[in-house]
Amino acid sequence: MLLLAPEKLFSGTYQTARKRFLNSAKNAGAHMSRLAMHATHHDETLSTDIAWFGSPNPKRALVVSSGIHGVEGFAGSAVQLAAIEHLPELPGDTALIMLHILNPFGMSQLRRTNPANVDLNRNFHFDPKGFKQDNPHYAALNSLLNPAYPPRFDWFSLKLFRQKLRMGSKALSQVIAGGQHDFQRGLFFGGHQLEPEAQAYYNWLNTSTLKQAEKVFVLDIHTGLGAFGEQSLFLYSDKMSADTLSRRFKLAIMAEKNGARCLTYDHQGGSSALYRHLFSRQSLAFLTIEYGTYDPTHMLKALRTENQLYHYGRNRLNSRVKKHFKDAFCPYPDIWRKRVVIQGIDLVSKAVNALTVDE
Ligand SMILES: [Zn+2]
Repeated sequence: MLLLAPEKLFSGTYQTARKRFLNSAKNAGAHMSRLAMHATHHDETLSTDIAWFGSPNPKRALVVSSGIHGVEGFAGSAVQLAAIEHLPELPGDTALIMLHILNPFGMSQLRRTNPANVDLNRNFHFDPKGFKQDNPHYAALNSLLNPAYPPRFDWFSLKLFRQKLRMGSKALSQVIAGGQHDFQRGLFFGGHQLEPEAQAYYNWLNTSTLKQAEKVFVLDIHTGLGAFGEQSLFLYSDKMSADTLSRRFKLAIMAEKNGARCLTYDHQGGSSALYRHLFSRQSLAFLTIEYGTYDPTHMLKALRTENQLYHYGRNRLNSRVKKHFKDAFCPYPDIWRKRVVIQGIDLVSKAVNALTVDE
């Protein structure tokens, strides 16, 4: 049983979430460290905080990360708090590491991107060619997706509908969300070099004792894709098949590449590329978790409007646009919040088990 009702684990702001995470992790005996980011933005401390439980030199490790997409971190933070409250028993050679909010600017400013408008989950390229990949169809849609004026009624729904008829929904969402490196103020911009948040994450991981672990399991928490309150899981692993893990977890798990084909879109530069790059010799399983909110058209409209407000309007956190945007990635109803937390803690305990049983 959780001490608090699950929906109460959701914080109202990044700063509140950070304080709660630091307090509960310290009380539960974690070793704490932090990656400082943009030390002062409007005089606030922005950092990715790291709570390390269990072995300092682990053979097996579970990493639970949240908030690479800023505003999506409200849900990830709540799951992390719940998991700390429910801390699973760890064998002596095992560690559980929580990375709290990989994009603190985005969460604090209710954005999905970092200060340079970069989608950090399209930014992990270790070959410079990755930053030059073109997405030619995106250019044709740029003026529709990223108009250079403040939010206003402009027949977007109708125009989007026409594009869907022309290209098909799947092809259209692939072009839009697959990532692009040409339009700095545009949606799903992947940047031109490794961004400071991505670099800090890389440096920390590269020098941590995780590099010596034999088995690394990563859970990366997102929101906004799939049906309301439903959990979707996408696995990247060289060593383990999605079917094997599905049977073990008693949950539907899709291989990342198949997930791209049926429910979502394929994209390059995601944070799983960071682990693939650094942990090529270890047994690695990277599970992307999505908690669904609203339908894709609702989501695209929310993203487009917030992006217009940020670049061309009066960007205030208490504006109607921002409130609507937050609801798109972290719905206000308690029922959604409960479902997220309950599914999330179940998954963390299953992942610890999977890590500690020997195949
Ligand atoms: Zn996301």
